[in-house]
Amino acid sequence: MNLILLGAPGAGKGTQAEKICEKLSIPAISTGNIIREALANGTEMGLKAKEYINAGQLVPDEVVIGIIKERLSKDDCRNGFILDGFPRTIPQAQALDEMGVVIDKVIDIEVSDETVVKRMSGRRVCSKCGASYHLEHRRPINEGVCDNCGAELIQRKDDHPDTVLDRLNVYHEQTEPLKDYYNKTGKLTVVEGQEEVKDTTRLVFEVLEN
Ligand code: ADP
Ligand code: ZN
Repeated sequence: MNLILLGAPGAGKGTQAEKICEKLSIPAISTGNIIREALANGTEMGLKAKEYINAGQLVPDEVVIGIIKERLSKDDCRNGFILDGFPRTIPQAQALDEMGVVIDKVIDIEVSDETVVKRMSGRRVCSKCGASYHLEHRRPINEGVCDNCGAELIQRKDDHPDTVLDRLNVYHEQTEPLKDYYNKTGKLTVVEGQEEVKDTTRLVFEVLEN
């Protein structure tokens, strides 16, 4: 199954992508994670993306389209994949279509702007492996350190409150039109993001089963 998760930053796409990955044994592909990894490794692509990402702006389409082309060509995508954070613009969606990628379902996780702002302030990520935590909803076993690798948890630069507002604006202007784009193809299902992660997961799984 080829899936797309849509939703505002902080809607919980990444968390749900992981749950689907476990359930269906297909890879969860996060362009945000791929870019942050490139940034941490100091690659040319990472350097190019740095200013955009830290300012809460989108990385140029041609850069992320290149990333996705390369990633989807790998063997583990043969039985399907979950796209988390791609496409984020109409041209990115068109690029997927032009690549001949057939999407089975698009799940849009809806949360209010207010919830996004609240959630982002509590989000922490591992400085080493990128695993994501939350001060209230997804606490690490030991405070301030990653369950996976033991490295320090930090707040992403682009999760600082003023940048979050910029990201929300970018979302409403550039990403939200994708709802219409996929609604027209009959592939879109809207899921209301719930207070508890597991409740959202139940709704997401229902969509997969129907
Ligand atoms: P979140 O889902 O929390 O907003 P991501 O980790 O998906 O965060 O993305 C973080 C940042 O990475 C974005 O704000 C943007 O700068 C960049 N990015 C990720 N995916 C894309 C994309 N498809 N197009 C353009 N920029 C992207
Ligand atoms: Zn870690």
